[in-house]
Amino acid sequence: MASIRFLEKQIIEKIAAGEVIVNPAAVVKELVENSIDANSKNIEIETDGGGKTLIRVIDDGDGIETEDLGVAFERYATSKIADSIEEIQTLGFRGEALSSIAAVSSIRASSRHKESEKGLAVSLKAGELISSEARTMQQGTIIEVRSLFFNLPARLKNMKKDSSETQAIIDASGMLALSHPEVSIKLVCDGKTLFHTNGDGLFESAATSIYGKKFVSSCIPVEFDEHPLYIQGLLISPAFIEAVPKRAVFINGRYVKSQTVNRAVDQAYFDACGKKGASMVLYLALPHKYVDVNVHPSKTDVQLSNESLITMLIKQAVTNSLSSVYVARQSAIEPEKTSVAMPVFEKAQEYFPAQAQAFQSSLGDSLLNDGLAADAIEAEPAFESLQKQTLAALSHMSYIGCAFGLYALLESNEAIYVVDTHAAHERVLYEAYLDSYNSKSISSQPLLVPVMLNMPPSQYQAIVSCTDDFNSIGYEITDMGDGSIAVRSVPSALSSAAVDNLLYSLADDLSSSGLDGFGQTRSEALIKKACHSAVRGDANISESELRPLLKSLAEASVPFTCPHGRPIISTISMKSFMRAFERIN
Ligand code: ADP
Ligand code: MG
Repeated sequence: MASIRFLEKQIIEKIAAGEVIVNPAAVVKELVENSIDANSKNIEIETDGGGKTLIRVIDDGDGIETEDLGVAFERYATSKIADSIEEIQTLGFRGEALSSIAAVSSIRASSRHKESEKGLAVSLKAGELISSEARTMQQGTIIEVRSLFFNLPARLKNMKKDSSETQAIIDASGMLALSHPEVSIKLVCDGKTLFHTNGDGLFESAATSIYGKKFVSSCIPVEFDEHPLYIQGLLISPAFIEAVPKRAVFINGRYVKSQTVNRAVDQAYFDACGKKGASMVLYLALPHKYVDVNVHPSKTDVQLSNESLITMLIKQAVTNSLSSVYVARQSAIEPEKTSVAMPVFEKAQEYFPAQAQAFQSSLGDSLLNDGLAADAIEAEPAFESLQKQTLAALSHMSYIGCAFGLYALLESNEAIYVVDTHAAHERVLYEAYLDSYNSKSISSQPLLVPVMLNMPPSQYQAIVSCTDDFNSIGYEITDMGDGSIAVRSVPSALSSAAVDNLLYSLADDLSSSGLDGFGQTRSEALIKKACHSAVRGDANISESELRPLLKSLAEASVPFTCPHGRPIISTISMKSFMRAFERIN
């Protein structure tokens, strides 16, 4: 007797439901996405008992036509047909959610279409229509889900306690509210209003409702536009890094979890200020062909194509935003009388009031009452040019000398500027080298006589297993066997560094996995480390060496920290000298 049979429709739907609807929060997500797709302006989410007792979503969207209301609960029933999957503009597109939810719960759904006088209410249990009646109601849709998973005992047993399911609902609803700041979304759990966004279209407003005022004022704005990527949003300022970072990333209006985005932000953030785990609320817009939306409907993981380009642009966006903070910090600490400190400070106040206040209190009233009359400043220069001006001022100051063989001292009317020459050199070298790597224009310099290096087994193994990475950054390394390697070419950028020391140090790091982290590729990590090793040793910089270094630093994209995040420039004010010698209090 044949043993293969077709599954019954109800069983198929239960299996499908189990895949899409993993918990009450998934129901909330699907229902709210439908409301957003239906052009709602106001959405109210109510849940009781972690969503196990009740989930109700009320919207004022387009509504569902009377004859469609029953059909909407059939599998693969959707009104959102696009010509191709790439052109999908709506959050839903599979026509699976309502049927899946209905298959494993009791539902009451009411809707009045925008062109109808009256609405219709239907009741379903386990996907079967039980009743249907006309209903007088406002335009929009109300969906109530009760007894979730009543016919899936295994799923029911695996549900978490009410408070955990409620937490998942809060998280999912928060992401929906942040993803669509133009829709007012209210969440009420067990009778308590947990948030209510105002729907004014500003992401700052939505972020304030979800994460609070303090968080928003601890962030710096991100805005970046370079084809094909547009980004805007908020990034926590380095001074306010949180123990558990908030990561709200949206691509084309959809909340996503993207390793590509997280890694790019982490790496650029760490490069700029040496800190990890930045909170972010970022909105990315990318042409649809760069984003794979055909993922599992309940999952938020997203694949991006042309990752290296997108990564580079995201890093640029983060770097640009952070460099503005550093300008503000440096200038606020040490204003140049004739320079641009006031506008920087005003910008700082406008962009990140909390930080500006912190600067101000740390300085007492000195900054504002220091004879820095705002009319002394004729025109407010563009924000980006401020950083250049701060650095340009540095290159015109008189050079006093080099302290401890490392710190170049420059003097202005107001302060001594201290430049960590190794850190500055490392930054300049790193950016030039990385640029040539990113633009695939690394140049190599052949060595007249190959350098032979003999290494202990683990270092040797580490180098030999990474010869491709070394080749990609301008080395030519050959495995000679028995713990020996021959170096035949070196990157031109590092041609003056001692090859043996540099490779021994890279081998050490490679063998101890000291190059892992922040999503950088191994080649990028090697570049960073190589620059670090390459600048060690040259002490007591002369003025003729310092001037071009400061000029290159002024052109760097992150001129205030070395690639490992340590500061490059510090200041000692004349006032602090006067205080030390008790000329002033
Ligand atoms: P999908 O969203 O993938 O189309 P769903 O099962 O979530 O599939 O919904 C099926 C259909 O029901 C939708 O295409 C839409 O036409 C209709 N629908 C569901 N919820 C709403 C709503 N809140 N307002 C208007 N129409 C809705
Ligand atoms: Mg849907």
